[in-house]
Amino acid sequence: MSLLTDLVNLNLSDVTEKVIAEYIWIGGSGMDLRSKARTLNGPVSDPKELPKWNYDGSSTGQAPGEDSEVIIYPQAIFKDPFRRGNNILVMCDAYTPQGEPIPTNKRAKAAEVFSNPNVACVEPWFGIEQEYTLLQRDVKWPVGWPLGGFPGPQGPYYCGTGADKAFGRDIVDSHYKACLYAGINISGINGEVMPGQWEFQVGPSVGISAGDEVWVARYILERITEIAGVVLSFDPKPIPGDWNGAGAHTNYSTKSMRGDGGYDVILKAIEKLGLRHKEHISAYGEGNERRLTGRHETASIETFLWGVANRGASIRVGRDTEKNKKGYFEDRRPASNMDPYGVTSMVAETTILWKP
Ligand code: ADP
Ligand code: MN
Ligand code: MN
Ligand code: MN
Repeated sequence: MSLLTDLVNLNLSDVTEKVIAEYIWIGGSGMDLRSKARTLNGPVSDPKELPKWNYDGSSTGQAPGEDSEVIIYPQAIFKDPFRRGNNILVMCDAYTPQGEPIPTNKRAKAAEVFSNPNVACVEPWFGIEQEYTLLQRDVKWPVGWPLGGFPGPQGPYYCGTGADKAFGRDIVDSHYKACLYAGINISGINGEVMPGQWEFQVGPSVGISAGDEVWVARYILERITEIAGVVLSFDPKPIPGDWNGAGAHTNYSTKSMRGDGGYDVILKAIEKLGLRHKEHISAYGEGNERRLTGRHETASIETFLWGVANRGASIRVGRDTEKNKKGYFEDRRPASNMDPYGVTSMVAETTILWKP
């Protein structure tokens, strides 16, 4: 066991300039993260210096067998907390050999929105609260839950401590540090209302980088849970009944919202979001109707409701933002399995570019 640990921790830079780049992309379900590694001749810090690569799209549900090649373009680089040294993680998006984004590539469209000069000049910031649930591998039942039964009702678990309240903290904390190591702008973690459910926050991050950082943070979490032998679930309502679902609250501001007079800009943005409620819901994650019931700190999927400090609203404005008359607001509708490229770019599109 210790020889294996020694080998996996070999420090390559003692003997070679070469480094390992783990290319990451999103597979055909829109939630499956795939990756493979290649050797580079030396350290790289700019994705433009990295070669494009390809994969077999017929094995990920993204291309037919007779024309299976999908091309991946390196878009963002992070330090690799697993291999360390100069080794890197590379977030990629996917194209046809002709250079068209494939249908599941939401990043390309988002990058277009965020590079629009009218969007870039207002500096959109996003803070994403990613909730998730840890499941026992063989039975797919939350960690810490008795087999064939249920724990006591919700109440003691949110931000809880103790062997009967917090389950899986070693995973959560490893992930927190690994994300900081990688260069992800992770801003915190907490235990959630449902036992076995946790949250990490990414942000505030600017524009397209919010999506890149959330995806790589998800990837790192998949890798850590793989090591721990625990299954990671982003299902929006993993356990039906009187148990909280899992969301991905999306906090948002622009330069003018953060500045004096920002409150009026916030109210106008919320009004526009209300006019497009249905379209947003359709991009906010699969199965979200099981979560947005109007109970368990959600607003019903059918209604658009905003309020100050209201956790039963679609959009919540914080007390500080109301008091300071500037700041940010929280879109509470996105499900834990949302695509952050889709959600962030849609929020920017509706609030900045769209003229009702
Ligand atoms: P909650 O009180 O809803 O649980 P959290 O503290 O979990 O909120 O998450 C709030 C998120 O909002 C964090 O990711 C934080 O970085 C982000 N945030 C803070 N200020 C802003 C801002 N001005 N614009 C966008 N996001 C912000
Ligand atoms: Mn939170
Ligand atoms: Mn939460
Ligand atoms: Mn929140």
